[in-house]
Order: sequence, then structure tokens, then C-alpha cells
Amino acid sequence: MVGAPSAASTVPDVDGSALLVVAIDGPAGSGKTTVARRLADALGVDYLDTGAMYRAVAFAVLGRGVDPSEDETVAEIARTMELVLHRDGTVIVDGIDATTQIRGPEVTRVVPTVAANAAVRRELVSRQREWTHRRGGGVLEGRDIGTVVFPDARLKIYLSASPEVRAARRAQEVTDLSYDAVAADLARRDALDSGRQHDPLRRADGAIEVDTSHLLIDEVVALLVRELDETGE
Ligand code: C5P
Repeated sequence: MVGAPSAASTVPDVDGSALLVVAIDGPAGSGKTTVARRLADALGVDYLDTGAMYRAVAFAVLGRGVDPSEDETVAEIARTMELVLHRDGTVIVDGIDATTQIRGPEVTRVVPTVAANAAVRRELVSRQREWTHRRGGGVLEGRDIGTVVFPDARLKIYLSASPEVRAARRAQEVTDLSYDAVAADLARRDALDSGRQHDPLRRADGAIEVDTSHLLIDEVVALLVRELDETGE
């Protein structure tokens, strides 16, 4: 469970260097989710898809008919929502299975607005730190893991890929949208995620950048395992 309502918001900054934390950031379609899952399996640790958490807030906001730009109301929803992320990818929001809907076009359209809300980010970052602390570490993927959530992570990775490759990957996953529609959505989200005021997407200091455009998943995972070995732990 990723935090009970509000209790998590009191969790202070956690010293990531004392935990086995791997922070993976990058834009949509860079391969984060697949790589993070596979790396977590290889290391025998848990994996957290923080994008699913922002999507869950957007889902709850839409479900209540709230305007996503109403900052105060949206922040209150984030603070009080009950969110459970299962290892198999199932996402339960206030008791409702939202696994499919959080990936749908409505949620995808409004999630950058919700993610630009500073109070929402504070709440989710707090829940992410608590999740990690309880497990003694984990592989976390998102947009601000190496910059904000765990700047002291044992290993920080920034995954990138060309816009064409990223759009082609997403178009394969989202079968009901054309390549052009997917490419336009990625460009829109890239601009919003990189240009926002609070915790924009950027490569963290000390992060290793891996361009996954022409690499197989296995190659990326093997590279990260080697990098982790080299940290001497
Ligand atoms: O990773 P995914 O594409 O599912 O993330 C959905 C959205 O959630 C992103 O476009 C971004 O707006 C937001 N997000 C974020 N910070 C994170 C993870 C996701 O702002 N750590």
C-alpha cells in the first residue's frame, strides 16, 4: 500500500544512500517501466511506478467531477485518497480497480496538470519515500526520482530515446490511437513535464544517461546491473 491517507505526509527526507535505491527517470516511451520491473526482479527488490500514482490522482479527480486545475481541491484529494499498487500492476484507488482507466486517454490528458500541482507532488513524494523506507530500498521510476525523491540513490539513471522510437513504442501499447496521435501526445507531455515550475523532468546530477533507442531491454538491464556492481555494494 502506498500510504494511508495523510499519515505519510509527515515522513521526512530519507537518506537514500542508506537504502538500496535505484532511481530511474526519463520521458514516456524511454523504456523506464519495463527496465525498472526487470531490474527489480534481477535484484530481488520491489518496484514502484510513480507515474501510476500521479495517474491515480488524476483518476480520482475526474471521478469526482473536479476541475484538474482547482489546485486546493486536487491537493486535498491527493492527501486523502487511499492508493494501493500491487506488484502485478493492479492499481486500486479508494477501493476501485482503476488499472485500465489510469492508462486511458482521459487520465493521460489531465495527468500533467495534476502533476504540476506542488502540493500533490509533496504528498506523493512523501508516500514514495515511505514506501521505500519500509522496504529498505527498491527500484523507483518516474520524472523526479533522482532529482527530488532520492537525490542520494545508490544508482541514478536517466533513460532517453529518440522521439520517433518513443512514439513507436507507445503506439504499439495503445492500439486504438494512430502513430501521429501518440507522437503528438508524447510531445505535449514532454513539453509540460520538462517546462513545469515544480520538479520538472531533467537528468539528475550524477545520473548515468542511457539512450535506449537501439538497445534491447536485456542489454539495458545488464548495463544497469554492472553499474550497480561498480558502486561497490
Ligand atoms: O510514467 P507515466 O507516463 O505513466 O507518467 C504519467 C505522468 O505523471 C507524466 O506525464 C508526468 O506528468 C507525471 N509524473 C510526474 N512525476 C513522476 C512520475 C510521473 O510528474 N515521478
